[in-house]
Amino acid sequence: MTASWEPLLSRARVAFAARFGGEPAAMGWAPGRVELLGNHTDYNGGLVMSAAIDRATVVAGRRAEGREARFVSVNLDQADAVPLDAIERTESGAWTRYVRGVCWALSQWCGPLKSGVEAVIVGDVPLGGGLSSSASLQSALAWFLIQLGVVPGRSSRAFTHDVGDLHRMELALTLRRCENEFVGVGSGLLDQFSSLFGRADHALFLDCETMAHDRLPLGKPGPAIVVCDSLTSRRLADGMYDQRRAECERVVAAFRDRIPHRGEFHLSWVSLEQLEAAWDQLDPVGRRRARHVLSENERVRQGVEALKSGDVIAFGRLMLASQASSRDDFDNSSQALDELIAAAEAAPGFLGGKLSGAGWAGCTVNLVRAECAADFAEAVRTSYGVKTGITPEIHICRAADGAFGRDLEPAQS
Ligand code: ADP
Ligand code: MG
Repeated sequence: MTASWEPLLSRARVAFAARFGGEPAAMGWAPGRVELLGNHTDYNGGLVMSAAIDRATVVAGRRAEGREARFVSVNLDQADAVPLDAIERTESGAWTRYVRGVCWALSQWCGPLKSGVEAVIVGDVPLGGGLSSSASLQSALAWFLIQLGVVPGRSSRAFTHDVGDLHRMELALTLRRCENEFVGVGSGLLDQFSSLFGRADHALFLDCETMAHDRLPLGKPGPAIVVCDSLTSRRLADGMYDQRRAECERVVAAFRDRIPHRGEFHLSWVSLEQLEAAWDQLDPVGRRRARHVLSENERVRQGVEALKSGDVIAFGRLMLASQASSRDDFDNSSQALDELIAAAEAAPGFLGGKLSGAGWAGCTVNLVRAECAADFAEAVRTSYGVKTGITPEIHICRAADGAFGRDLEPAQS
């Protein structure tokens, strides 16, 4: 049987031979992710559930003479050469910031990379589509460098050993540092965590404050994870995201002195009961934002229990409740996203669905009985198309394993 990563690796081999000549010696593979429950909870110190998906990035290459890391993105048909002893930022928004950032963050963590490298990057996670191609790229690249043995003091064996999760968490934190401090995006830990900790037919749980985490079975065979892209621009979310953070912060400020705490105080330290009790004294917008976040935490707790008892139907209902809370309290849905969910609810095999990520535009994520996935996609395409005149892009995915690396034998010709 062909492994699911073979097609990407084949493309990487062809590109590598064309750009550098010869064969890559090692590869890293890492998936994108979807958020299943726990919307806008990460920066509020709350709880999230996600899944890694079978859309991924492969980085394949070998060691090279000198102190330069040379990368080619096959997707963008562009190259970059990173001087390993003086890694500088490229312009904001450039893809090279991610590869340079990974080299920088690994060097900060373990010391300068041991040798130059040359490698190609190829992925099938849509870029900038909310499925976290950026974390997939970062994790695949980090894993490739570790697999190749050029990261001082880190061997790939440590990540697959029993204590592998410890090393994975350290790596996730290192990659978040890359994104926060080098790339300049103020994201939480969820994306890197999901790409590194995924498991086939499992959902992932993360407590963003304590970093407690778990993998929960979605059933065997698990449902399809169907991502429906409304094709509305995520740019809409830019200013809104910061506005929501500020609105949550107003509620944090109102509670900070009322609730005993040590260290940083998060919105998630407030209970739903405390919020209800203080309702009339709170800012009328902020209190609804807070109710969304705190009820999301509660839905994650219930979602974990539902999956522990094998109840994927109850889990699906929680996703729909999350969507209603986004629409009514957090105001981060949109007409297009509401229409997509309405179309999904009427389609065959639907278990539950909600907007994914920041909201306001972009994608919905749906759990769908595996055997109905193709019919589901067709039904959503048709009914959303009739209503809006737009044919949504639909990705039928499965929950996938997390990142890994491997040494490569020369391809058989
Ligand atoms: P998302 O993570 O939701 O896909 P982001 O804006 O966070 O959206 O990250 C997308 C960016 O990640 C791309 O614009 C590009 O800079 C980088 N990226 C991801 N995959 C690749 C790739 N295969 N080649 C080059 N750059 C990539
Ligand atoms: Mg991203």
